[in-house]
Amino acid sequence: MTLPAATPTGLFIDGKFVDGSSGSFDVLNPSTGERLTSVARAGLDDLQLAITAADSAFADWAATAPRERSEILRRTFELMIERREDLAYLMSLEMGKSLTDARGEVAYAAEFFRWFSEEAVRIDGALRMAPAGTNRILTFRKPVGVALLLTPWNFPAAMATRKLAPALAAGCTVVLKPAEDTPLTALVLAQLMADAGLPAGVVNVVTTDRPGELVTAALADTRIRKLSFTGSTGVGRTLLAQAAERVVNTSMELGGNDPFIVLDDADLDDAVAGAMLAKMRNGGQACTAANRFLVQESVVEEFGAKLAAAMGALRVGAGTDEQTQLGPMVNARAVTGIAAKVADSVAAGATAVIGGEAAEGPGFFYPATVLTGVPRDSAVARDEIFGPVAPIISVRDDEDALALANDTEMGLTGYIYTTNLARGLRMSERLEVGMIGLNRGIVSDPAAPFGGLKQSGLGREGGYEGIDEYLETKYVSTNW
Ligand code: NAD
Repeated sequence: MTLPAATPTGLFIDGKFVDGSSGSFDVLNPSTGERLTSVARAGLDDLQLAITAADSAFADWAATAPRERSEILRRTFELMIERREDLAYLMSLEMGKSLTDARGEVAYAAEFFRWFSEEAVRIDGALRMAPAGTNRILTFRKPVGVALLLTPWNFPAAMATRKLAPALAAGCTVVLKPAEDTPLTALVLAQLMADAGLPAGVVNVVTTDRPGELVTAALADTRIRKLSFTGSTGVGRTLLAQAAERVVNTSMELGGNDPFIVLDDADLDDAVAGAMLAKMRNGGQACTAANRFLVQESVVEEFGAKLAAAMGALRVGAGTDEQTQLGPMVNARAVTGIAAKVADSVAAGATAVIGGEAAEGPGFFYPATVLTGVPRDSAVARDEIFGPVAPIISVRDDEDALALANDTEMGLTGYIYTTNLARGLRMSERLEVGMIGLNRGIVSDPAAPFGGLKQSGLGREGGYEGIDEYLETKYVSTNW
């Protein structure tokens, strides 16, 4: 489990890897708890250099023919697929996810480059006649400017490419700051984009374990016109307040508290297969992870037993071990947080059918856990768990399920299992979330608009909508 020798560890500024001015910080392997390597810690002067590079590259990149931008994105997609195994192994090393999950993520992440290579050449405008008939209204789209991209650790490749691809397709240049737990994948992606022909300065990557001071300085810089953030709702709220100072254009992909509803007419084997995807992909460390299982009372016992059997059968191990189905959590803090929520819920009356106790080290492991009889207001039902814990709550009927599902400030993803499609669609309309898996345990798709309602976010990534986040509309009032 050693780091491939060629893995970059410097900041990527103006097309080159350089040392940071503020020393370095360690990156751990969560499967062992040991240090993998150290990467450069960017200082405020490095940030200035990165913003200057992005700003200097902006005019030319924005004026590049859409087809040329498209071809570079397409080549990036192809290189990612070619280097899929190397990327998957690296992500598994620094984040702990199983190789199966990592390979799936590389394919998903690469697909954003292919999708937005196809969108880069379809940026449109419009021509309308003013209702009074006095003039024409001509609209066209322009890139917003230099974009600051902030990403979480749970999908080190996909959360970056979901922003990079539309930003570059639109003609923006960027400064990307990956999460401190998983900076290596972003640095490798920068190398890969350079290999695909991306001009120097268009993408810059700054790494740090002190994100607050760097991001505050970046948001105060008048050259930054766009903030796209994926992470927790708490940090997102802070950044929205900071962005308000200069009225920076913002997109926010935040946390969830996703309900997984199983109705009495559901195909239970199908529902369990979907639950395994919705809950256990990435070890439960996904914003789209099913957080609460709301199961109609007549099927709650059978569903719980089947889910516990499936979750209990997972092979636990190091992410990079080919046999592993459930890897470690990202760090020790994550394990402590999950254990505290489970303990709170058990103290409130829930029963751990399987799991329920953090594993001894080395590495940051938490076992697959199924909780039954979970009180509706306990910690696991209220807060995002971000781990392999499935709390099951019994609900009376559709109205009860909907009321409970919507009784939260979060609104990212919801899942509904029923064999009655009309019933499922009626509930889908009333579920207060941005994305719904109806008889499906997975919603992420580069061709679909990804995003949340309420405090789960602002804006959409992917789909036709994703590129809009990086474009402004201008209009000319004219006549001829
Ligand atoms: P986080 O909010 O701690 O960190 C996200 C990013 O913000 C990281 O790059 C981090 O370095 C940076 N950051 C942290 N504190 C900051 C500060 N004070 N100022 C500026 N930047 C700061 O989130 P995380 O733990 O990395 O990720 C998990 C969270 O992300 C979960 O809540 C999850 O639901 C959410 N998430 C959402 C989506 C989505 O698409 N909606 C996708 C993945 C993860």
